[in-house]
Amino acid sequence: MNTVVWFKRDLRTRDHAPLLAAAALGEPVLPLFVVEPGYWQLPDTSARHWAFINDSLQDLRRQLRRLGSDLVVCHGEVTEILARLNQTVGIGRVFCHQETGGAWTFKRDLSVIAWCEEQGIQLREWQQFGVVRRLRDRDLWDNEWSHVMKAGIHDAPAQLPPLPEGIQATASWQPPITACTEACPDRQAGGSARGEKLLASFLERRCVGYQYNISSPVTAVRACSRLSPHIAYGTVSLRQIYQEAKAAGNHRNTLPRKQRSLTSFRSRLHWHCHFIQKLEDEPELEFRAMHRELENLKNGPNDTERLQRWQEGQTGWPLVDACMRALHHTGWINFRMRAMLMAVASYQLWLHWRDPALHLARQFTDFEPGIHYPQVQMQSGLTGINGLRIYNPVLQSQKLDPEGEFIRRWLPELAGVPAKMIHTPWLMTPSQKQRYGGNTYISPVCDHEQAARAARKAVGDFRKRHVSQTETNRVLSCHGSRKGPVQKRPKPAGDEPQTDQLSLFD
Ligand SMILES: Cc1cc2nc3c(=O)[nH]c(=O)nc-3n(C[C@H](O)[C@H](O)[C@H](O)COP(=O)(O)OP(=O)(O)OC[C@H]3O[C@@H](n4cnc5c(N)ncnc54)[C@H](O)[C@@H]3O)c2cc1C
Repeated sequence: MNTVVWFKRDLRTRDHAPLLAAAALGEPVLPLFVVEPGYWQLPDTSARHWAFINDSLQDLRRQLRRLGSDLVVCHGEVTEILARLNQTVGIGRVFCHQETGGAWTFKRDLSVIAWCEEQGIQLREWQQFGVVRRLRDRDLWDNEWSHVMKAGIHDAPAQLPPLPEGIQATASWQPPITACTEACPDRQAGGSARGEKLLASFLERRCVGYQYNISSPVTAVRACSRLSPHIAYGTVSLRQIYQEAKAAGNHRNTLPRKQRSLTSFRSRLHWHCHFIQKLEDEPELEFRAMHRELENLKNGPNDTERLQRWQEGQTGWPLVDACMRALHHTGWINFRMRAMLMAVASYQLWLHWRDPALHLARQFTDFEPGIHYPQVQMQSGLTGINGLRIYNPVLQSQKLDPEGEFIRRWLPELAGVPAKMIHTPWLMTPSQKQRYGGNTYISPVCDHEQAARAARKAVGDFRKRHVSQTETNRVLSCHGSRKGPVQKRPKPAGDEPQTDQLSLFD
């Protein structure tokens, strides 16, 4: 009896329970990846996502070949592909991981479940990380997360049977036609081998000082683990990352500074699942505000010129534009800068959250719907229970890029401008512009301070008039933290740890 192992966002052989279970049956195994045309037409998918997946499929194929098997890549709807395979060679079982994606993948999963039931084919899904399907009691979530993270790591199967007779491995595959084909010249490369290397370099060296260096776009590029696309497409398992980080932190020779950094890093791995759980519990978050009564905060279509200037890195606020242009070029930006980009779109530019959310989703190589949509809403003030976080793009710039190093790298128009003027080039006199350049850099889209004040007032007024305690309580009981008030810990002397990556309600 043939077992299909259906790979989705789990492109690895190590710590892959469905693959191991299929191998243990001692019967033919068919490792399958499906390129689904409908998925690649969604407005939150892009060529850079595919490029990372493509690297990872090449690497997965190498891993499977080493084990004696191969990879089959098919184009089409999953149920059609399964039906074809069933007709050609017969399928007894489909094994895969659970996935918390957007509405499209959820609907596709339902159709696969229904098809398997109709055909009398066993479909078995394994939990991939600490996200719990049909979670009934949020109070139990933390325990469940720890349980999953502490469970043993599965080695890759020692060997796999060759592909079932009549099935050809796919030598090469066509890219899907994506709606967004924008190039990303400095994108992170995919594949488990690269993911493992990145993890090793982070745990050995780069993690030291993590919590102090993750907010500035200058230092974050190296200080952050950069594992996000690998986690999003499962080239390295989250459990493996968690356990290796714990072991590195607990090693008797590890210095206390490194231990603290790794503790801080591990808390982010917890947030990964904490956020995805929100979309799992309430899939509508992809389309409407978490606090339903705040969905109408902004009526009417977005101002297209403002949206376009924000998307193109042409707002006239240097740090905002440098971040957007860096993101276009590399597919990654750190948490604080993602939060600032989203907050500027929502408050100063007063754009409805959905267009900016889709733009950022396409730009992030690591796009993970379960983190992305709740984070976007949090940064846009749509949870209804968090204080508003309106970033001042000039203060952020002066604090996080004081010398203008990051700005100069991404805004060639300002390459010659000295540090003290680079954060507010609109204040330069004509003769300063003549001397240092900066004439070609665009003027700000509006007065950011006035716009921030107006936004704060508009949100406050709307909340007073339209927000009910009943809906606020619903949000709290559905998504609220169960940890109680956060304990204030004394700050270490010297550096200030950058703890601005607040989880939704902690
Ligand atoms: C508006 C907005 C959208 C975002 N969209 C995404 C997204 O689509 N995909 C994505 O992976 N992250 C997203 N994030 C969270 C965060 O910015 C990235 O996870 C992080 O920058 C990735 O870089 P890293 O792997 O080097 O992070 P590290 O700091 O090394 O963290 C390690 C891992 O922990 C998890 N993590 C870290 N910070 C957070 C957080 N605040 N919330 C949830 N999980 C976290 C991620 O899986 C990350 O890879 C978003 C944040 C914001 C503000």
